Amino acid sequence: RAKADGGGRVRFLDAPLDALAKRRRRLERALRGAFERGEIHVVYQPKVCLQTGALCGAEALARWRLRGQEEVPPAEFVPICEDIGLIDELGRHVMRRVLADISAWRAEGLAPPKVAVNVSARQFQDPGLVNFVADLLAEAGTPEKALGGEALEIEITESAFIGDTRHAVEQLRRLGEIGVTAAIDDFGTGYSALSYLRNLPVATLKIDRAFVSGIDTDEGARRIADTIVALGSRLGFETVAEGVETERQAALLAAAGCQLAQGYLFSRPLAPEVFRAKLQAAAAGEPLALISAA
Ligand code: C2E
Ligand code: MG
Ligand code: MG
Ligand code: MG
Repeated sequence: RAKADGGGRVRFLDAPLDALAKRRRRLERALRGAFERGEIHVVYQPKVCLQTGALCGAEALARWRLRGQEEVPPAEFVPICEDIGLIDELGRHVMRRVLADISAWRAEGLAPPKVAVNVSARQFQDPGLVNFVADLLAEAGTPEKALGGEALEIEITESAFIGDTRHAVEQLRRLGEIGVTAAIDDFGTGYSALSYLRNLPVATLKIDRAFVSGIDTDEGARRIADTIVALGSRLGFETVAEGVETERQAALLAAAGCQLAQGYLFSRPLAPEVFRAKLQAAAAGEPLALISAA
């Protein structure tokens, strides 16, 4: 702690840091028991097909509601999980919940689209990951029909390829063998060498919200987004835009050739029961959204 050197300035800067450190310690303690106490749950954000407006996918997102208290955002608790060795537990928990939900929906006769699960770079290094997913898939589903890996996608960021790229590629190849596809999340914000994309067994690029948010107001932002979509399609990737909030953004992305989009315009992340209602609506032929032309 810096010593108070006369003025009140040091104390003034010191206090919030202290509060942050306290919060961090409190959250670390609470996280260790959060799984057993059932405080970690999963919500689903729909992905929409920009050509048809149909529900074409979903992203599973972890939520933590501290007992009787505030919700802690994943941007805060996921890094803590990584630091204190709980990231595998989080990843396994989310994967189990997702496969259980998909199985339950299928058992009801619903047809959930592919659900994407975020896998942190740390968790992606775990050599046991593929076997864990394969075992869960084998247990999931209904007695008549096991769940295939096609039900699942994983989202990893470019940071998963820093370091042991060969291992990362091998993990993706093994996931592909059991039918699980992969998407690069937050594309464009990380590791920027494009050459790594060429031989990656990945089906999808998710364009980060940073490249989407300005496209309806800023010509330069629109050109960047167009270029990323074009790059993706030239290299054979499906592209998904994240953080779509306005109809104009959706129309411009559709015109650029982007296939899928997710964002508050279409839907916030939804509790499983609410997402299930969307599946029922989709089964009745209702589109999730109407996409206008640019
Ligand atoms: P992400 O994977 O890039 O997820 C997209 C984030 O954008 C989500 O935030 C989502 O709620 C938010 N979002 C979606 N549409 C909009 C929009 O139109 N506007 C705005 N402003 N935001 C939108 P969330 O749920 O807070 O998650 C933040 C990050 O935490 C995720 O970013 C992901 O990196 C991480 N995360 C979430 N769940 C998990 C998980 O189960 N495991 C791991 N390893 N990471 C997770
Ligand atoms: Mg994601
Ligand atoms: Mg993302
Ligand atoms: Mg993100």
